This record gives sequence, C-alpha cells and structure tokens, in this order.
Amino acid sequence: MEIIHVSAECYPIAKAGGLGDVVGALPKYQVKAGHIAKVVMPMYRTKFLYENEWTVDFKGSSNLGNWFFEYTVIKETTNKLGFDLFLIDINGLLDRQKVYGYDDDTERFTAFQIALVNWMSSWEHQPDIVHCHDHHTGLVPFMMQYCYDYNKLSHIPTVFTIHNAQYQGQMGWDKSRYIPRWDLWKRGMLEWADTINPLASAVKCAGKVTTVSHSYMDELRYNSNGMEKLFEYERGKCSGILNGIDNEVWDPATDKYLTEHFSVKTVSEGKQKNKESLCNQFGLDPAKPLFVFIGRLVGEKAAEILPDAIKSAIHHTQGEACFLVLGSGETQVEWAFQQMVEPYKGLFNTVIGYDETLSHRMYAGADFLLMPSRVEPCGLNQMYAMRYGTVPVVRSTGGLQDTVVDMGEPDGFGIRFNHASVSDVDYSIGRAVSVYKDKAHMKKMRQYMMQIDHSWESTVDQYTQLYQSLQ
Ligand code: ADP
Repeated sequence: MEIIHVSAECYPIAKAGGLGDVVGALPKYQVKAGHIAKVVMPMYRTKFLYENEWTVDFKGSSNLGNWFFEYTVIKETTNKLGFDLFLIDINGLLDRQKVYGYDDDTERFTAFQIALVNWMSSWEHQPDIVHCHDHHTGLVPFMMQYCYDYNKLSHIPTVFTIHNAQYQGQMGWDKSRYIPRWDLWKRGMLEWADTINPLASAVKCAGKVTTVSHSYMDELRYNSNGMEKLFEYERGKCSGILNGIDNEVWDPATDKYLTEHFSVKTVSEGKQKNKESLCNQFGLDPAKPLFVFIGRLVGEKAAEILPDAIKSAIHHTQGEACFLVLGSGETQVEWAFQQMVEPYKGLFNTVIGYDETLSHRMYAGADFLLMPSRVEPCGLNQMYAMRYGTVPVVRSTGGLQDTVVDMGEPDGFGIRFNHASVSDVDYSIGRAVSVYKDKAHMKKMRQYMMQIDHSWESTVDQYTQLYQSLQ
C-alpha cells in the first residue's frame, strides 16, 4: 500500500515529544513490511534541513483567505530515514526554528494543510491512505472531502491518529474564510462547541480514528476537554493501537549517545557504569538508588507535584535516594526545581531544557523513572526505560496502565499508583527504595522488562489491517 503520513513533527527532523518519535519510526517499519510510506511535514529551519541533500519536487500556490501564498515541496534525496520525506515550505509562515509556540500557529498549520491538499490534487496517481496525526493536520480529511477544488481526493481513505487530545487547535468562525471554497452545508463537520475544531473535525471526517493506547481511547469517552460525547458517538470507528518504540535508535547495546553499552546479560554492571558517569557529572551519590524524570514540565505530566514529592521522599527515606530531572515547560515548575539544587546538593539536580543525549544517558543510568502523569495517551518514556532496564514508577492511566505491571503482580516489574498526588509519589518512591536493596529482585525485574517486545513490527500489522478495512 502507499501511505502518506502528514504530521507537524518527525524525528530526527523536528521533535517536541512523542508524536515526533512515532512519525519518525512507523513509516520506516511500514517500508520494511513492504509498503510505500511517505512523510509530509512543514519545512522548519532545523539542523536536519541544512545537513542533508534536497531536490525541489513541486512548486505551487494557493490562498489563505485573502492572502495569496506560494509554496515549495522539497524531497530528501538519499532516503536516509528509510522512507520518502517531503517538506513543504511557505515563506513567512513555516520558515521558523521551532515547531510550535508562535502567535500565528493557526495560520501556519492551516496554510500547510492547504498546500498539502493542493499539491496532492496535482498528482497523477492516488495513494491508498492519507494518515494524519494530531490537530495540526486535522482539517485535511475535511478539505479532501468537502472543498470543491480538491474533489478529486474525496475517495482516498483517511486515518486520523490522536497522540494528544488536550490540544485541539480551536479557531473562531471568522477564520472559516481560510478554508478553500467548501460546501457550506457541511459546516457541522468542522464545528465543535461553536468553534472550528480541527481535532473534532478529523474525528468526524476521517474513515478511521485511532489513539495510541486502548486505555486512552476509553478515557476519552469520559475525559477529553469537552469532546466526550463526540468520542462516544463515533466509538464505532475509533480504536486504540499502542505505539511501538524504535529498537534501532533505543538499544542499550548500540545507543550512539552512550559510552558504556550493555545487554540483558550485562545489565547490572552496564547500568552501574552509566550511573556513575551521570552521578559524577551531577554531583550525586552512585551508591544510592537514582530516580529520574524526563519530560515536559506541564500539568498533564503532573510535573508541579514533583518538587514537593521529591522533598518529601528525601525526608522520609532519610536521604537514601538521589533525583535528577530533565525538562522544560511552565516557568514556576522550572523555578521550583532550580530552587532545590542548592539546599539538596548531593541528592538532587536538574537540567532545564531539551537534551536528547542526556535523556538517553538518563534512561541508561537511572534505577527508576518517575511518571506521575495525569494524562498519558501512550507514553514512550516508560517503554524506553524498560528497554534500558530502568524500573518505571507510574500513575495508572492511559498507556502507562497498558504497559506497566506492578511488581506486586505475577511477572510484575514496575511500580504503579493511582493518584497524581505528593503522597502517592512519595509512598511509591518508598517502595522503590525498599526493592532497590534486594539486588537479585532488581536484576530479575530488569532482565524481564528488557525483553518485553515493544517493537513496531506488530504495531505495523495492526495499522495495515485498519487501512485494509477502508479499501
Ligand atoms: P509527550 O509526547 O506527551 O511529551 P511521550 O512520552 O509520548 O510524551 O514522549 C516524550 C519523548 O520526548 C520521549 O522521547 C522523551 O525522551 C522526550 N523528551 C521529553 N522531554 C525531553 C527533554 N527535556 N529532553 C530530551 N528528551 C525529552
């Protein structure tokens, strides 16, 4: 099959979170399974752009409301990522360094989607599936079906994957003029709660809708920022497919960011060496269990409870555990962590920012990974942690619930708790510190979870079946 993935992120070109990881890996494994998979994304000004070879594939023009714009589609020439990669450039809108966070994000991503359908309508052949990811691409299924100029695309089946339903891309009806001439009778297919809602529109218009875990799909029916009824109504076409992880990038035996590699057999010694190097760098004691947090410092991740939870755990364990936090996000949370560095010297440290290399070293060197998330559609961190023999300490929600089994259960290897609260995190850290003393148990859990198969191969089959159901 020929599958066109449309996304705002794709690792290693541009990544802000899990979406980038998924769109960087799924197409690669679809190609390995015999499909033709292509990725189309905006041409941000990132390092990858300047370090690789490109050819111009197409030049076109369209309108965003009254604003006429020209766009260029470029293609990476060497198939470096294992799939065809196309970037769409629109001067003045997409020529930025960051993926998100600009005042005109609505205009940027709407114009990107218009350029995409405009370009696709010039193709002589038709792909088998257009697979859109998250709200930045959520207007594509609507435009393919109900914009008069793109009528030609209306028979191509579409799939929409929700990586995070917290962000929906709502815009006022005054912006409906951005959408190229469309069938006004279909206004309801754009609307949710009196606004144009790209996420809701995609749920209504796509042939199939998926989320990145089964539990998250269930959760959306009772907690999705006001869209609960829509998910209930559309449940017939919605399903959950758990993300895989890219075992070629995330392999402690070959990881290019690590100096000390290890395997299932050598996990105890290998992790200890990685831990020592981390602890030396951050002034922590490698003899104590090391807890890490890696992620966005936002409410969804319950990051704001961590400063108090960590202080409380340091107090309760009498300084028997060390903590290292990597992340960026809400200023007051960043500040709270920074304020802890001096008073808790030797027990706590933090790096505020985004650091891919350090994140790999932390998965490899840590004993425990903290994830108290309020919302976790799939969560990749816990799967990376498992692959690197790091015990996940997670709240039972979404994908965390689907992938982590508490060590109290048969074949359990992680720690689960129910509430995103200081006391639950503190209590779970206490459980972790106790089990850390039992070296044989730790080794058994590590070796067990390192061998769990979270590879993309089986996930690819599930997507293929879904695509086939639409043919
Ligand atoms: P989300 O997409 O909600 O942020 P996921 O768990 O799906 O969460 O994916 C997070 C990805 O982003 C993981 O690959 C994680 O290692 C990475 N990541 C998050 N924050 C940072 C950071 N500050 N530095 C390096 N990598 C990070």
